[in-house]
Amino acid sequence: MNIAIDGPAGAGKSTIARLAAKELGFVYVDTGAMYRAIALYLLDNHTDINDEADLKKALDSININIVYENGVQHVFLDLVDVSEEIRSEKVGNMASTSSALAPVRAKLLDLQRDVAAKNDVIMDGRDIGTNILPNAELKIYLTASVDVRAKRRYDELKLKGESPDLEEIKKGIEQRDYQDMNRDIAPLKQAEDAVFLDTSDMSISEVVDEIIRLKNEL
Ligand code: C5P
Repeated sequence: MNIAIDGPAGAGKSTIARLAAKELGFVYVDTGAMYRAIALYLLDNHTDINDEADLKKALDSININIVYENGVQHVFLDLVDVSEEIRSEKVGNMASTSSALAPVRAKLLDLQRDVAAKNDVIMDGRDIGTNILPNAELKIYLTASVDVRAKRRYDELKLKGESPDLEEIKKGIEQRDYQDMNRDIAPLKQAEDAVFLDTSDMSISEVVDEIIRLKNEL
C-alpha cells in the first residue's frame, strides 16, 4: 500500500508521516531529504546549476543511497551519512531552487517509485500524489498557515540553541512556497483525489490519528 503526503515547507509532513508510518508498520520515505542531498552536493562542489554540462556532470557523479534503520531513513552521499547536514536553511533553499530543474527531478523519479513498488510506504514531498505515485491508495494534502509554519520552525531552531529571526523564517517559507508552487515541472499542488488537512489548529497526534482513521476507512 502507498500513502502520499504532499504540502508546503513546514506543514509538519515529516514528523507526521514518520509517526503514522511507525504506527502502521510502513516504511517512511522523506523525498525532500533526497532533494536536499543533491543540493548539498551541488553546493559543496560549486556546481553552476545554470550550466547544463556542469549540472549533468555533477548529477552523474552523485550516488544517493537510502538506508532504513528501525524505520528511520538515513541519506548517504556515497559512503557519507549526510542526514544531519542536509537540514540547514541554506541546503533547504538550494534544494528548492535545484528541484525545479528537469535533470534533478528525473534522477530521483525512479529511485522514489522503486522504493514504493517494493514496500508499504508513506512518502512525503511535493509531487507524490500528483506525479510520483498517482495510484497511491491514500493521498493527503497537508498544510497550515504561513504564520503557524514559521512559528513551528522558529521553535524548532530555538530548541536547538540557535537564535532565529521569525520574520526572516517567514520570508524564507513564503519564497519557497512560491518557487515550489510556480515551477514548470511537477509543481506543488493538491491532487484532485487528495484529502485536504489544514493542521494550523491541530496537534501532531490529532493529525496522525486522522491519517490512521482515513487509512482504516479504505
Ligand atoms: O520537504 P523539504 O523541505 O525537505 O524539501 C526541500 C525542497 O525539496 C522543497 O522546497 C522542494 O523544492 C523540494 N522537493 C520537491 N519535491 C519533493 C520533495 C521536495 O521538489 N517531492
